[in-house]
Amino acid sequence: MPVLEPYGVPPRVFAEQLDCLQRFGFRFVSAEEALRSLEGDGELPRRAVLVTFDDCYDDLLYAALPILEERGIPAVAFAVSGRVGDSNAWDEAIGAPRLALLDTAGLQELSRRGVEIGSHSRSHYRLATLSDSEIDQEIIGSLADLEAAGLARPRLLAYPYGNYDERVTTATARAGLRAAFTTYPGHVGRRSLRHQLPRIEILRHDVGLRFLLKVAMGSQWLARRRRVTAALGLSGLRAHVRGRT
Ligand SMILES: [Zn+2]
Repeated sequence: MPVLEPYGVPPRVFAEQLDCLQRFGFRFVSAEEALRSLEGDGELPRRAVLVTFDDCYDDLLYAALPILEERGIPAVAFAVSGRVGDSNAWDEAIGAPRLALLDTAGLQELSRRGVEIGSHSRSHYRLATLSDSEIDQEIIGSLADLEAAGLARPRLLAYPYGNYDERVTTATARAGLRAAFTTYPGHVGRRSLRHQLPRIEILRHDVGLRFLLKVAMGSQWLARRRRVTAALGLSGLRAHVRGRT
């Protein structure tokens, strides 16, 4: 089985996952609503969900965005600022296929069509393995890169592989990023640390009841099957911000 195969959610499955959540009373929220709630300013609806994508593969624009737009669902996409318009070189070591990443025009179009662009660092290294100055280059550098590409300065970041330590979260906060996502499975709540937010990773095989349970149960369901975030072809839903439930 190809290395990244579980991460590539086909468009039909992605649409079914979104429709399933809507049918079961989940409410999709924007990054702005999620941030305000995290910062203590405003309530999220019950069963609030924030959809996020890591890496910014080109199929995010061509395959996922139309599905989101049809349903009026907001999303956040995390770009690797030093690889824009290139490919997922960081996965080659694990035998993954080469996948195209969106170029500057593609990211700008995503942004124009309502997808918030966040940072996924500059080079997709495991940030906790770097020196302090390298961490700053990866984080602050990525914000500068994306601004130089004509995008808004990112407010959010996703740690590559979900890898971070205290130095990384401190550097992230110091860079002015308002929140950052790990790949630790779970729901975001009032007491979540803003620079260590959990997410629920959705894979190709998460359909039907299994999918609903995964989103609804969060960490309990996932504790046994935590895995590193590799790249996703077309990833489904990746973050679940939970309100008052
Ligand atoms: Zn990634």
